[in-house]
Amino acid sequence: MPASKNKSAPVPRSAAKRAPSKAGKDTTAKMPAASAATASAVSKIEEKLRRLGLHTDMDKVLHLPARYEDETQVRRIGELGAIYGQPVQVEGVVTACEVAFRPRRQLVVTISDDSGQVTMRFLNFYGSQVKQLAEGNRVRARGEVRHGFFGAEMVHPSYKMVNEGAPLPDALTPVYPAGEGLSQTLLRKTIVSAMSRIDWRDTLPDALRTAHQLMPFEPAIRLLHNPPPEIDESALIDRSHDAWVRVKFDELLAQQLSMKRAQLARRDKGAPVLKQVGTLSRAFLAQLPFALTKAQQRVLKEIRHDMQQAFPMQRLLQGDVGSGKTVVAAIAAAQAIDSGFQAVLMAPTEILADQHFRKIAGWMAPLGVRVVWLTGSLKKKEKVEAKTLIENGEAQLVIGTHALIQEDVQLSKLGLVIVDEQHRFGVGQRLTLRNKGADNATSARKQRATVPHQLMMSATPIPRTLAMTYYADLEVSVIDELPPGRTPIVTRVIDQNRRDEVIERVHAAALEGRQIYWVCPLIEESEALQLQTATDTYTTLSAALPDLRVGLVHGRMKPAEKQLVMDGFAQGEIHLLVATTVIEVGVDVPNASLMVIEHAERFGLSQLHQLRGRVGRGSAASVCLLLYQSPLGPVAKQRLAIMREFTDGFEIARRDLELRGPGEFLGARQSGQAMLRFADLETDQWLVERARDAAQMLLSDDPATVDAHLARWLGSREEYLKV
Ligand code: ADP
Ligand code: MG
Repeated sequence: MPASKNKSAPVPRSAAKRAPSKAGKDTTAKMPAASAATASAVSKIEEKLRRLGLHTDMDKVLHLPARYEDETQVRRIGELGAIYGQPVQVEGVVTACEVAFRPRRQLVVTISDDSGQVTMRFLNFYGSQVKQLAEGNRVRARGEVRHGFFGAEMVHPSYKMVNEGAPLPDALTPVYPAGEGLSQTLLRKTIVSAMSRIDWRDTLPDALRTAHQLMPFEPAIRLLHNPPPEIDESALIDRSHDAWVRVKFDELLAQQLSMKRAQLARRDKGAPVLKQVGTLSRAFLAQLPFALTKAQQRVLKEIRHDMQQAFPMQRLLQGDVGSGKTVVAAIAAAQAIDSGFQAVLMAPTEILADQHFRKIAGWMAPLGVRVVWLTGSLKKKEKVEAKTLIENGEAQLVIGTHALIQEDVQLSKLGLVIVDEQHRFGVGQRLTLRNKGADNATSARKQRATVPHQLMMSATPIPRTLAMTYYADLEVSVIDELPPGRTPIVTRVIDQNRRDEVIERVHAAALEGRQIYWVCPLIEESEALQLQTATDTYTTLSAALPDLRVGLVHGRMKPAEKQLVMDGFAQGEIHLLVATTVIEVGVDVPNASLMVIEHAERFGLSQLHQLRGRVGRGSAASVCLLLYQSPLGPVAKQRLAIMREFTDGFEIARRDLELRGPGEFLGARQSGQAMLRFADLETDQWLVERARDAAQMLLSDDPATVDAHLARWLGSREEYLKV
């Protein structure tokens, strides 16, 4: 039975990537000729098991069923009519078995009991199956029954040959996540044999177990592999059974322990102590045209504190769109510069990097700071100049895009790395940037490896449970307050067929002196089509609104062209900006107060929230019109309603999580995900909190337990968590 049928089949994501270990082959090579054949069969199986992530006996024992099947009953074939479409088990004698060719080669087998007959159809089959299913043999088959051309039929049922009167199982049958070439029978045998070899000792101290009323390890695991007949079946199936709770707790605990330990390990590395809140910091604050909000002051204090330590900060600064993260980052940079070090700010797009450059350079350059700009689109000569300044340390603040990583440039005195919109970058990219300053940052008298402090910023709001799980190894600061004087954005959800009225509204707004974004539909399947749509939209809107100046910006334009359009919009020369999602992150034009998003139903909620955050930045009341194509399904309706009702990114994220599950939020940071096979962050929130508390306690009081637990649950998996 294919495991892929089950949505939650917990095949470890990383398993496929794992290279087959050489060890197995080497052993075979040394085997005497006689046993070589069997040995190679064994190692083939081992290789397949490894592809599933099953290396050790403990891995195998912890390979728990994806679901359970009820094979305890057999239905009378003549009475199947009432339960079409549901999985059933039948038993009968083969009355016909033929290989047919209509329309393609297939094996068609009819079985009968005393009440009727049903056809089994196999589109892929082996010659051996034809023999096995010969007339007169008795078979027990399981699958969905449906109306076929010749009456009741089952397509690709699972089946086994049985003797008359063969007993039925008295308990649910586990179904394991399987890989190619691994049958359920083989997995089951492998697991049973591994169970006879492992050390069953409980890794949790009794006190902890009782405190959380957790089932002991051994009975829990045994029960999940072999559910007893009298078990509460629904609790087993929906994974609320105590045995599942124990497994999920263990898994979450292992994740917390591993991430927290990685966090502690960072403290063994050295970092430049950025103590000085000096002239630059003070001058910078003094010339800001506004006062920092309470929330900004609070997170700034947290960041300052970290930067003054001799081990590297690794802090995530979260704040809703428009909450003012950039200025906080700039103040942190000022502290690094005051202390005699360089700071780097990396942004995911050229538009955003450019905007940061203008804004921050506008603040800093008059104070005598040398700000240098580095992106891929610089001319060769400019690039060489920039690199020289960066490498000889004259550049105090470097702002740019991925080029900062890609270009072969070393920073001589890197003290602080700031990554804006961090979820847009891969873990590897952030690591590379951090390593750019590694070890050069301080003089040779330091023994420890030295890495710069790191501040990551993200406007992607992430619900608490998710943050607790996936960011368990980071410090997190949250700006939970918007600067004063903002009027909330009003959002309307409008049928796409009222586009003409919307265009009228755009016209009226422009005449009032407001500026407008028009966001083109997302076409995920084809970038070419998306560009085409953007160009078409630009043409039709320009034609429909001849008295307005309309601009177009999309991802395929050259950076300089893009910049020209963005400048025109920022300076108010362009009234209406037709754009693809390139404007999604960070763009800051306070006079824009109307946004139209076409086919809003195609966007993710966090993306809609980001887009909408481009308006509502000034004091004018802003409006966001979400156009949708009817008819909308119920979930799509609910999602747009969430956007209409809420402006708080965290609230939106929380509701989106309820509606859709966690995948959406994680972006590039999926290292923690490889570990969670059983726990479900939505239904198991309460367990996440308990696991976190337990992890803290164990890390400080009981290192032996920590080691034992991690060895059991992570084993070979931990390598995925080193970032
Ligand atoms: P984000 O958190 O989305 O990156 P920005 O840093 O771009 O937000 O800030 C949004 C806008 O608010 C900018 O124009 C910025 O200058 C302004 N701003 C930031 N902090 C304050 C404040 N304390 N008071 C008033 N305006 C502020
Ligand atoms: Mg920003």
